[in-house]
Amino acid sequence: MRIVVVGAGLGGVAAAAGLHRAGHEVTLFERGAELREAGTGIVVMPNGLRALDELGLSADVRRHGIRAGRGGLRDRHGRPLLVTDVARGRQRVGTIAIVDRAGLHRSIRAPLPAGLVRTGTPVERLEPDDTGVTVIGDGGPLARADAVVAADGIGSKLRGQLFPGHAGLRRTGRMDLRGMLPRPPGLETELLAGQLVDRRTGAMFGLFPVGADLLYWFTDSALDGPPPGADEARREMLSLMADWHPLVTTLIEATPPARIFVDPITRLAGPLPSYVAGRVALLGDAAHAMPPDLGQGASQAFQDAAALTRLLAGAEPGDVARRLLRYDAERKPSANRVMRAASRQSWLTSRTGATAWLRDALLRAVPSRLATRQLAALWHA
Ligand SMILES: Cc1cc2nc3c(=O)[nH]c(=O)nc-3n(C[C@H](O)[C@H](O)[C@H](O)COP(=O)(O)OP(=O)(O)OC[C@H]3O[C@@H](n4cnc5c(N)ncnc54)[C@H](O)[C@@H]3O)c2cc1C
Repeated sequence: MRIVVVGAGLGGVAAAAGLHRAGHEVTLFERGAELREAGTGIVVMPNGLRALDELGLSADVRRHGIRAGRGGLRDRHGRPLLVTDVARGRQRVGTIAIVDRAGLHRSIRAPLPAGLVRTGTPVERLEPDDTGVTVIGDGGPLARADAVVAADGIGSKLRGQLFPGHAGLRRTGRMDLRGMLPRPPGLETELLAGQLVDRRTGAMFGLFPVGADLLYWFTDSALDGPPPGADEARREMLSLMADWHPLVTTLIEATPPARIFVDPITRLAGPLPSYVAGRVALLGDAAHAMPPDLGQGASQAFQDAAALTRLLAGAEPGDVARRLLRYDAERKPSANRVMRAASRQSWLTSRTGATAWLRDALLRAVPSRLATRQLAALWHA
C-alpha cells in the first residue's frame, strides 16, 4: 500500500520505519530543511520501550536503561516526599531509558532509506476521495496515498482540517526550561531520577542521568505573559531556586547556554472525537498533546506507531478505513487516559499554599511500595 507520513518528529519517523519494514511503500514529508531532533534529554517509559521493541527499533535505547535507584518527589531541599524504587518498578513493568533526544531520533530513523524522505516539504492539506487521499503541498499535489498518517505535532495543521470543530490547543500557564551538561565529578547522586517541588511557588526541578557521562535537568514554573528567551528564563530560574538544594543552581549555572531550551507548555484543549478520519490517522502530539509531567508524550507516539504498523499489516487499499477504526479503538481510550493523568499530575505538582502543604503531608504518608506500584500501573498504559 502507498502510505504517506506527514511530519518527521519522533512519532513520524517511528511510524515510517515500522510501516516501511512491514513492506508498505512509504513517503515521509517533513517541512523542516533536514531530518533532526533538537533539544536535550528525553525519558522513554517502559510502555514506550515495549512499543519500540515491537517496531524493532529499541536496541540503542535499551542500552540506556536505568537499572536501580530511587525516584519520586522531594521538597525543594531534596527531602523525600514520595519515594519510588526504580529497581522494584523495573521488576514489575520493565525499564525506563533516559536518552539524548537527537540520538534517539537518529537511531529510530536509521532504517529509513534516504529516498523515502522528502524534507523541506510542508503538507498544506489533504484531499480525500472514495479511492484514496491526495496530499497537497504549497506548490500543488505532492502524492497520492491509500492511507495518510498525520504526525505533524502539537500544532498540527491537519488536525485542524480534519476536526474543524475541535478547540485546538490550550496554554497551561506553565513554562519549561531544560538543559543538558557533562556530569560534574563528585556529584551527589541522591537527587537523580527524581523531581523537587516548591510549595511556595509551585515550581519544579527534575534531574536525570543520560548514560554515564551526561545529566539532563528541567524546570517547570508559572508563566505570566509571553515566554521569555532562554537566557532570561535561566536568570529567572536561578533567582527563583536560589535557596533550593545547592545542586539545583550549580547545575543550571554549569550548563552551556547553547544546551538550554525554553518552551511554554501547551496541551490539547480537550480530547479529539476520534484519532481517525476515513483513510487518515492522527499520531503522537497531533492526536494527544499533553503536558510533559509524566514523560509520556513520545512513549504514547511510539505506541501509536506500533499499533498502526500491526493493524495495517497485509491490508489492501479497500481495507484501510476499517483497519484504522481498530487503531482508534485501541489507542484513543488509553492515550486519552494518559493525557488526563498528565494534566492531573501537572495540576498536583504546581500547587501552592495550603493545597500544596496538604499534598506534601499526604505524599509523605504514602509507603514507597504503594507509590512504586501506582507508577508501575501507569507504565502499563
Ligand atoms: C519540555 C518537554 C519535555 C518533554 N519530555 C518528554 C519526555 O521526557 N518523555 C516523553 O515521552 N515525551 C516528552 N515530551 C513530549 C514529546 O517531546 C512529544 O510528545 C513528542 O516529541 C511528540 O512527537 P511527534 O512526532 O508527535 O511530534 P513532533 O516531535 O512535534 O514532530 C512533528 C514534526 O512534524 C513536522 N511538521 C509539522 N507540520 C508539518 C507539515 N504541515 N508538513 C510537514 N511536516 C510538518 C515538524 O516540523 C516536526 O518535525 C516532552 C515535551 C516537552 C515540551
